[in-house]
Amino acid sequence: MEKSIVSKQVEQMPWSGIRVFFDLVLGMKDVISLGVGEPDFVTPWNIREAGIYSIESGYTSYTSNKGLLELRQELARYLYKKHGLEYDVEEEMLITVGVSEGFDLTLRAIIEPGDKVLIPRPCYVSYGPLVELQGGRAVYLDTKIDCGFKVTPKQLESAIDRRTKALLLNYPCNPTGASYKKKELEALYKIARKNGLIIISDEIYADLTYDFAHTPLATLSGAKERTVYLNGFSKAFAMTGWRIGYACGPKEIISAMTKIHQYTMMCVPIASQMAAIEALRRSDKSVLDMKKEYKRRRALVVSGLNEMGLSCHMPEGAFYVFPSIKKSGMSSVDFASKLLQEEKVAVVPGTAFSPMADDNIRISYASSLDNLKEAMARIGNFLKSR
Ligand code: PLP
Repeated sequence: MEKSIVSKQVEQMPWSGIRVFFDLVLGMKDVISLGVGEPDFVTPWNIREAGIYSIESGYTSYTSNKGLLELRQELARYLYKKHGLEYDVEEEMLITVGVSEGFDLTLRAIIEPGDKVLIPRPCYVSYGPLVELQGGRAVYLDTKIDCGFKVTPKQLESAIDRRTKALLLNYPCNPTGASYKKKELEALYKIARKNGLIIISDEIYADLTYDFAHTPLATLSGAKERTVYLNGFSKAFAMTGWRIGYACGPKEIISAMTKIHQYTMMCVPIASQMAAIEALRRSDKSVLDMKKEYKRRRALVVSGLNEMGLSCHMPEGAFYVFPSIKKSGMSSVDFASKLLQEEKVAVVPGTAFSPMADDNIRISYASSLDNLKEAMARIGNFLKSR
């Protein structure tokens, strides 16, 4: 029997619905792309300069597997000052290649074959495939617009069985923008604790929470011991290309993650780590300025979509809206493909984030106000021409 070249598990893994769609965009001219999930801002200059200066100064080596001590210390100060979170720099912290690596390492560190991970959905595209790759089982909790795209305590409780190992939370959420207030988190956490679950908390959009203060899950009473807190620099600091993030959590889990990371990545590039130190020290104003601009755009896009009859709830954070396209009568893939062909606006079909989200599309407002105004006009034309 001939051996297959690629492992069955990887062969069965789906391609990301976002990438599949964006292959279509490549090569098209004059497209307004509201598809990809990254800031349209370049990294603030002081941070870029710190990266450049580190290279000029000859910092070109590996670092400690855990990340530069100076960066971990700065991060510990930052998390304490901002949220009152206390993490030990030696045992409870790991600098990762973005939240992407942090998430993958968490799964590799805690999941045994057959373990279930609960994932509220619609969700970021990598969660399910990476859980399955690790031999775990992704159990989706479908959230609906009537609950603001949030998972309810009742829904969580009824999904737990003896194989459930972890709950994954991502708030503010990609793609819905939904976030949780402290009280809502407490209700979910109580159930997670009662059932001995580990919580993987992807809070990469935390700094882009617009209408209330973001509460890190690990700040809830007792939660730190069972929470892996994932965050990074990609979104709030506009540093996607630097590939840097961090994981903080119980020392057993961080130690296990570090063990894997030492063999796979060894460390995050030193220039990115030096730039991150600067980001933590002196970028509060830049982060707030970008947030202010996203908030203006959010208002424009939400009201624009509602005016044209595409019902759109006000997202609490991140830089996405997830309007209903039900009134168009089209599937989300049809809607997105035709909008791209006819009006040259790229959005992502809801089904990239959940098979249950065929009545939605994801629009990223990480694009200039002018672009967004033009895109709204084009979407309006598109609907009128039906
Ligand atoms: N988590 C969520 C919810 C995201 O939306 C993204 C990127 O879009 C990531 C993680 C990956 O972030 P990073 O650039 O830190 O790897």
